[in-house]
Amino acid sequence: IEPVSIALESLIRESTSMYNETFPAISLEIEEIDATIRIHADRNQLKQVFINLITNAIEAMNGVGTINIRTDIVQKGYTRYCRIQIQDHGSGIAQEDIPRVFHPYYTTKENGTGLGLSIIERIIFDHKGRIWLESQMGSGTTFYIDLPVEVEE
Ligand code: ADP
Ligand code: MG
Repeated sequence: IEPVSIALESLIRESTSMYNETFPAISLEIEEIDATIRIHADRNQLKQVFINLITNAIEAMNGVGTINIRTDIVQKGYTRYCRIQIQDHGSGIAQEDIPRVFHPYYTTKENGTGLGLSIIERIIFDHKGRIWLESQMGSGTTFYIDLPVEVEE
């Protein structure tokens, strides 16, 4: 990976801007992001993370509905993390399937590869972060990502 200093806000806007044209029935609601939050990260890899998660969310909602994105800061020990939430209102995932979704080749889609989430997990791990999810059948899924905030030298 080739990490550089990135403003989280610009990264999220870059990763989400193209959806408005391609999916007019999808509304991406991005809560105000603190413009001072910076992370040390590989821009293309993290863009891929957001694009994959949003694509999954759109598929879970059959192309119609709202996706909410919010970011917060959390402190764990001496490290500060930005916590990014991507919430959809789609099909949801059965509780017994939740542990499987990050496994390579696990897919419930006719033409799915089942690779998206395993790649995402790898990228987040490489960035010293953490990813997990909460889901409720019939009401939707929220993915959470914690990434260390860049420390000023
Ligand atoms: P693929 O999209 O090719 O199936 P992924 O690794 O991206 O592979 O996702 C694996 C599986 O996890 C999906 O097939 C689906 O069953 C489930 N999944 C992932 N994201 C969501 C979501 N937002 N809502 C419901 N199910 C999801
Ligand atoms: Mg996918």
